[in-house]
Amino acid sequence: MGKVIVVFVGPAGSGKSTLVAAYAKWLREGDASVYTVNLDPAAETLPYEPSLDVRSIVDAREVARKYGLGPNGALVKSMELVTERLEEITSKIAAAEADYVLVDTPGQMEVFLFRDLSWRLAEALRGISPESYAVFVLDASVIRDPADYAFLVTMATAVQLRLGLETAPVLNKIDLVPDVEITGDLLRDFGRVSRALREAGSVYAEMLREMLRVLLKYNRRVEVPRVSALKGEGIEELHRLVLEMSCSCGDLS
Ligand code: GDP
Ligand code: MG
Repeated sequence: MGKVIVVFVGPAGSGKSTLVAAYAKWLREGDASVYTVNLDPAAETLPYEPSLDVRSIVDAREVARKYGLGPNGALVKSMELVTERLEEITSKIAAAEADYVLVDTPGQMEVFLFRDLSWRLAEALRGISPESYAVFVLDASVIRDPADYAFLVTMATAVQLRLGLETAPVLNKIDLVPDVEITGDLLRDFGRVSRALREAGSVYAEMLREMLRVLLKYNRRVEVPRVSALKGEGIEELHRLVLEMSCSCGDLS
């Protein structure tokens, strides 16, 4: 087996960095070798010691000073600078001797996803290993009803479209959602989600139901791992999902 590469994408504060830390720890406890990559030039502190840290190439605070920019401007400029030096980063990933490469992306999802860096990186990673995937991390407290399940699956599909990497949704911070009824059963039971959407009776709910039906037709996974990166819970569920993606390697191309 070659390297398995997993890119963590998600809104700011959804727990990407914490999940990279928890997953790396879990994999290492199982004797796997792990190479962690921090691609966030604005990270203040990280809950893990990155094997490769973009801040040694581009540091957002230095960029802000040098170009006289505010936080957003500095982030956008940093992304440009990282993109210019992407080759340096990807050649290190290619040379890394590891079973797993975990890539932590910038806190602000939009500066990554909506810019060239995202698809260029994904393209380079695909060249390094055909077993390159993405995980879309969402804060579990966002999920209130079945329509939000459709939202989660749709977002993961949008990330997949953008990156060209098979992408799976993951719900993090499950420790903050005591109502397991909502995040549990609805997510595990597509029939229930579908029924709830049908019962909602609106044209919008019907559209979501159709979208979900089509998305799931091409996607064998309807279970969304529910994890707590902070407490290190549910990580084996996430790992099972990654293994499942690597089994279906090539199926969805
Ligand atoms: P990122 O911006 O997506 O990289 O998010 P971080 O990993 O930096 O996490 C943002 C905040 O959420 C931090 O304060 C984390 O400690 C917290 N956090 C991350 N995962 C969890 C979790 O599973 N449960 C709880 N309660 N907090 C979490
Ligand atoms: Mg982060």
